[in-house]
Amino acid sequence: MEPAGHGPEVVAAGVDHPAAIARLVGARAAREREGLLRRLRTFERADGGHVVLGGRRLLNFSGNDYLGLAGHPAVVAALREAAIEHGAGATAAHLVCGHRRPHAALEALLAEWTGRESALLFSTGWMANLGVLQALLGAGDLCVQDRLNHASLLDGARLAGCALRRYRHGDADAAARQLAQPGEGGVAVLATDGVFSMDGDVAPLPALARVAADAGATLMVDDAHGLGVLGPDGAGSVAAAGLDAGAVPVLMATLGKALGTAGAFVAGSRDLVEGLVQAARTFVYTTAMPPALAAATAAAVGIARREHWRREHLAGLVAHFRAGAQRLGLPLAASETPIQPLLVGAAGRASALAAALETRGVLAVAIRPPTVPVGGARLRITLSAAHARADVDRLLAALAQVLEDGTAG
Ligand SMILES: *Cc1c(COP(=O)(O)O)cnc(C)c1O
Repeated sequence: MEPAGHGPEVVAAGVDHPAAIARLVGARAAREREGLLRRLRTFERADGGHVVLGGRRLLNFSGNDYLGLAGHPAVVAALREAAIEHGAGATAAHLVCGHRRPHAALEALLAEWTGRESALLFSTGWMANLGVLQALLGAGDLCVQDRLNHASLLDGARLAGCALRRYRHGDADAAARQLAQPGEGGVAVLATDGVFSMDGDVAPLPALARVAADAGATLMVDDAHGLGVLGPDGAGSVAAAGLDAGAVPVLMATLGKALGTAGAFVAGSRDLVEGLVQAARTFVYTTAMPPALAAATAAAVGIARREHWRREHLAGLVAHFRAGAQRLGLPLAASETPIQPLLVGAAGRASALAAALETRGVLAVAIRPPTVPVGGARLRITLSAAHARADVDRLLAALAQVLEDGTAG
């Protein structure tokens, strides 16, 4: 079977590749013809506020460094100091000899912050989602997911080999109907992003918790974009909704967004975590994250919890941006989070807008299908506590200019 959209007639010009690579080359060429080629660019620097690209300093409205911690001196100093003590890498998987004091300390800190008994580190959010779903679910089980969930949750359910049903975005009643349809008698997990990564809206978590409880399903929330940003002390969207470990037994979040480092964790009951240590293959069979990274993350968690001004400043920037965008008549999404997508529609128009902004010193990368649905291309504008109000004013002025110039048409 050929993957959709590129047949065997597409061959790379002049180069004799083996069939699997030839097909990949053909798929890439098809993307290029459709104007959907993804381009890898090398940046000289990036933090929450700015990037340097090709020697030019641009305002960065495309990162996920929501609290401005990626380049924070205390976080970088913690990384440096721990690297001197623990080296650059963990040398082995957690269960061999890779689990070190900074890992254990970070797990305890994350459990306490999120109000769970226990937490387990993973090397990336992608691996956490694959590992958890594959550990909890198998053939004969059911995973019900929001249509706009992150790709790693969808792939986790596929890897688990369970049935996967996807409900209309944000529709808890639709989730309930899918959970009520007879399965094969196995267990069910209802999985959702806490804050949707491309739209910025928050899942209806209390309603989903009721639906899961009524159906006897386990609710899992991926809070990659909520942790650090929402809730009391930045404990995330689940804490903001007032849901404890009883309502949300499986809480996953990443460390590479608001905390500015890299990695992820799953928090829940001690029994959940001890079960994952046995069964989550992406935990068992992979090198532990560098201990120095765990130490840096612990420093970031401390700042995120303590420095409320970062969240307050960020909320002020979000309000400032939305008010300005409204005055310009821009098509804003229903989002109160630092993810403020500007819906454009056609992929070509989104790319043209992004390019025009870049010539004006603003990085706002176009997100196109298949990352978002066809016709849903957008500029995924993100705000950071590292921005000043004047930066948001520059963004708004640049947007007004490029729209007036018709550069985007
Ligand atoms: C970024 C992201 C992930 C993946 O996390 P990584 O640590 O970058 O692999 C998972 N879920 C959501 C919702 C994300 O936004």
